[in-house]
Amino acid sequence: MTTVTIGFVGLGNMGGPMAANLVKAGHRVAGYDTNHAAVKAFAAAGGHAAGSAADAARDAQVVITMLPAGEQVRSVWLQGGLLAAAKAARPLLIDCSTIDVATARQVAEAAREAGLAMLDAPVSGGVAGATGGTLTFMVGGTGEAFACGRPILQAMGKIIVHAGGPGAGQAAKICNNMMLAINMIGVSEAFLLAEKLGLDWNKLHQIAGASSGQSWALTAYCPAPGPVPGAPSNRDYAAGFAAALMLKDVTLSQDAAASLDVPTPLGAHAAALFRQAVEAGEGARDFSVVFRWLSGQSRKDLVS
Ligand code: NAD
Repeated sequence: MTTVTIGFVGLGNMGGPMAANLVKAGHRVAGYDTNHAAVKAFAAAGGHAAGSAADAARDAQVVITMLPAGEQVRSVWLQGGLLAAAKAARPLLIDCSTIDVATARQVAEAAREAGLAMLDAPVSGGVAGATGGTLTFMVGGTGEAFACGRPILQAMGKIIVHAGGPGAGQAAKICNNMMLAINMIGVSEAFLLAEKLGLDWNKLHQIAGASSGQSWALTAYCPAPGPVPGAPSNRDYAAGFAAALMLKDVTLSQDAAASLDVPTPLGAHAAALFRQAVEAGEGARDFSVVFRWLSGQSRKDLVS
């Protein structure tokens, strides 16, 4: 494989292992994060420590960002000057963060005006997928840009799907995560009810996992401790995928639904429940903590 020079900005729970996989694949990766500890850890994994986002992008053939939300994506690419810094070397730009479709399109349009191609390429698969290089990428952008970016994404993921034009990757992601938020609460409710009915959680997991109640939230990520040993529920809900980030994603889905007048009553309810859990101080824990939070509520305290 040809070695590609890559600038990577945002070396957090996801970006850190994703950038490390690019290094493992033989690419030359310069990484930057406002958190110095993350840059240090990346350098220890064989990456090059950059002093700023612009520094990471200088001379890069591909520039990737993996940031928390739309605000940081606008701040880094537009106000922070990453786009301007990247311009000279004419790299392909890829944003892997989960953000609103409008920001994805705004940044892609600014890139286009600067003569650069940009992909929105949010991911599914969590920290385990980022570490194992098994992420699913849902990608928005032109067919030409997708063809250029695909080999790079393949070093970090297994399934790479071209969803459509600019913003289509983000559209797929918020629809997926709205389903996930609803599913996770559904599984949590069933396990709470099962406990009160005297049913063993392992038995429910075994039966529902082979029945029509089956879902990823149940089989791979069970929010009740026990049935899935690798799930965050067995390590005090250490993130993982933070509940605050799930609240962000499901809120993005509701903002989009409201602006397009789409009826999503369960999505709205899931957003309200995740908001309550985050406001109760669970935001930094894995989003499956909604199970434990729910177990501490009474029926009358919950939003209806
Ligand atoms: P994170 O908070 O662990 O990482 C984000 C990193 O960005 C942090 O290290 C932070 O210091 C850095 N950062 C913030 N502002 C910056 C700036 N201006 N310049 C440089 N660095 C900056 O979050 P994460 O879990 O890695 O998630 C990143 C994105 O991926 C989010 O959009 C999230 O919704 C999405 N995502 C996360 C998961 C998951 O399981 N964690 C799964 C799928 C998608």
